[in-house]
Amino acid sequence: MTRPFNFAPGPATLPLEVLQQAANEMLDWRGTGMGVMEMSHRSKEFISIAEQAEADLREILSIPSNYKVLFMQGGAIAENAVLPMNLSRGARVDYAITGSWSQKSAKEARKYADVHVVASNESDHHTTLPAYGSWQLSDNAAYVHVCSNETVHGVEMHELPDLAALGSNAPLVMDCSSHIASRTIDWSRVGMAYGGAQKNIGPAGMTMVIVREDLIGHAMAITPSAFDYKVVADNGSMYNTPPTYAWYIAGLVFQWIKQQRETTPQGELTGLAAIEARNVAKAALLYGYLDESGFYTNPVAVNARSRMNVPFFLPSDDLNDAFLAGAKAHNLLQLKGHKIVGGMRASIYNAMPLAGVQALVSYMKDFAVSHG
Ligand SMILES: *Cc1c(COP(=O)(O)O)cnc(C)c1O
Repeated sequence: MTRPFNFAPGPATLPLEVLQQAANEMLDWRGTGMGVMEMSHRSKEFISIAEQAEADLREILSIPSNYKVLFMQGGAIAENAVLPMNLSRGARVDYAITGSWSQKSAKEARKYADVHVVASNESDHHTTLPAYGSWQLSDNAAYVHVCSNETVHGVEMHELPDLAALGSNAPLVMDCSSHIASRTIDWSRVGMAYGGAQKNIGPAGMTMVIVREDLIGHAMAITPSAFDYKVVADNGSMYNTPPTYAWYIAGLVFQWIKQQRETTPQGELTGLAAIEARNVAKAALLYGYLDESGFYTNPVAVNARSRMNVPFFLPSDDLNDAFLAGAKAHNLLQLKGHKIVGGMRASIYNAMPLAGVQALVSYMKDFAVSHG
């Protein structure tokens, strides 16, 4: 059987090599007589898996040593509450609204802190990125929250705001669920980054929190201990039983990222640089075709188009069912758009090869010819 190309927004496709390795190790991890799911999180075997995964993530993303890497649960939606509990001290916090995910984050944070909206693209139907210079930043915010890639609306920040240059001394906090490990991160601009694993780094059930040490240790008294960043950090993410299997799979994905090679006009790239170059090429191919097709459209401003999540529309919604049925017959799965945007959406995360995007574009061309 040929493996179909799966464009799901999350949980999403994983690298075939990772799934094969996990399958081979399912019943017996390296001669221990146990699968990873069956191991104590405090066993030396699992500790070695956990430490290697963290070390690999630190290496891939060049995470500075004064940042903690926490392996938590609850997803980014739980973080919408956990973050203000940990970092706001109940005071003023700034939120930029760039799509449905940041909107959700701001709404939840209002339960715990004084939320101030610094900018919003709502009047543009979340298809633009408000110019950073126009943001109405507070003088005294505990942090400034952004969603650096809006999974539903397909809006990505290709350069993070430099808050210090904009006159704010608050740390930037970003929900990077759907593009974590797809590109480098400029940590000099970031106080905390968080995201669920199920888009780009593994199965659902694990949340990554990467937080600068000096920001933690001031959680509200109501914060559940299992969600207090300081408690989690002091216990090596093992205050409660962590999502061990998801942690292990993420570790395999990090190894896979490190092994990637890509030959480009700039020479041979490896690891995250190879992944990023491939993501740029995949996005260029798909957006390039959408723009020249005269049939399909993408509504997002060019400077804000996501490399990971590409919403697009057919000339009429009456064609949607035929498009999806034909796609499935061509082994192209899960292209239906999110219900609040409609149309189609191709999520082209790290694990989607260029061949998958080529197959999608080829199908789209044929469909446009036969329905144009
Ligand atoms: C998927 C996603 C979420 C929601 O994640 P959960 O795991 O369901 O909590 C939040 N933010 C962004 C940007 C996402 O892509």
